[in-house]
Amino acid sequence: MRALRLPAWKSEPELVEIDQPVPGPGEVVVRIGGAGACHSDLHLMHDFEAGAVPWNPPFTLGHENAGWVHALGDGVTGLEVGQPVAVYGPWGCGTCERCRVGVDPYCENPAGAPVPGGGGGLGLDGGMAEYELVPDARHVVPLPEGLDPVDAAPLTDAGLTPYHAVRRSWHKLAPGSTAVVIGVGGLGHVGVQILKTTTAARVIAVDTREEALALATECGADLALPSGAGTAEEIRRATGGRGADVVLDCVGTDTTLRLGVAAARTVGDLTIVGLGGGTLPVSFFGVPYELSVQTTYWGSRPELAEVLDLGARGLVRPTTTTFALEEAPAAYRQMRDGTLRGRAVVVP
Ligand code: NAD
Ligand code: ZN
Repeated sequence: MRALRLPAWKSEPELVEIDQPVPGPGEVVVRIGGAGACHSDLHLMHDFEAGAVPWNPPFTLGHENAGWVHALGDGVTGLEVGQPVAVYGPWGCGTCERCRVGVDPYCENPAGAPVPGGGGGLGLDGGMAEYELVPDARHVVPLPEGLDPVDAAPLTDAGLTPYHAVRRSWHKLAPGSTAVVIGVGGLGHVGVQILKTTTAARVIAVDTREEALALATECGADLALPSGAGTAEEIRRATGGRGADVVLDCVGTDTTLRLGVAAARTVGDLTIVGLGGGTLPVSFFGVPYELSVQTTYWGSRPELAEVLDLGARGLVRPTTTTFALEEAPAAYRQMRDGTLRGRAVVVP
């Protein structure tokens, strides 16, 4: 079968021919119907090097996948060949306290996971291929009616990650509150929809690209602001001087982290989603009183079920641009160049 593989750190992915996977006991092979292209893949290609994470290339890219059950290994029950499914992406050990309740991203026994701290497309072969081997059937989540794999794929990361982040801050997003999303690309435009549909907060979108701001407005953002030197001030003006109760920084550079602090309200949350490599000096008088600064990583399996439900009911709908497998490098180029609309989904 054809697969888009990352051959080494600091390299471009290659479309190559590899063996079609065969499921062993407890495993499932999924025929891919949609594989989302995430900006994290660009970080894998250009920013990571040996030692940054406990795994290495080569592997097939694509950690945001959905499709249909193709083959079941011995002992797998509760799934049927042909059934539409999403793949839950973070693969933990399956037996620690965290994994047992479906919170694999924070697996406490990484040595017992298929690959420590990763999953398909992150150290192991992912979904930018005709088929993906899922090493544990518990990661295969049936799709609710009304959701096809192309729309479901982005929900497993571009949906699940901001959903988890927003959910952590729900108690600060009462009527009268304001949420700011910095970077309204793949994750951010879905994040705006999640905020609008699960909270009463006023939503302000910030991006450097006009097209991204237009998409955020289509997604329900109350205000869309270009990212620049005066942005924090504009956010303060728009909030009666108070600032934003919750800031989701989906970029994570020095510039956006500084903007996040400057725009945040006292007792607010600044949640770092993006892997932009920025750092933020935090000191008592350097940030608003009782600002919580936190990182966030992916989401839980129960949260994925909630996101898929929002998707199936049309309450959250990623804007997608589809690409054939051989066009996947072009999808990444468009993402890098800022010409992509919404999320790129590769349809093999
Ligand atoms: P994307 O390329 O689709 O979107 C990024 C957006 O940020 C673009 O619209 C871009 O124009 C905008 N942007 C860039 N610089 C900006 C600035 N200075 N101010 C405002 N906006 C700016 O990327 P994506 O796939 O949505 O991923 C976003 C980030 O989140 C990446 O760093 C990715 O690696 C990371 N990520 C983190 C997790 C997690 O679990 N924490 C999960 C998935 C992705
Ligand atoms: Zn991702």
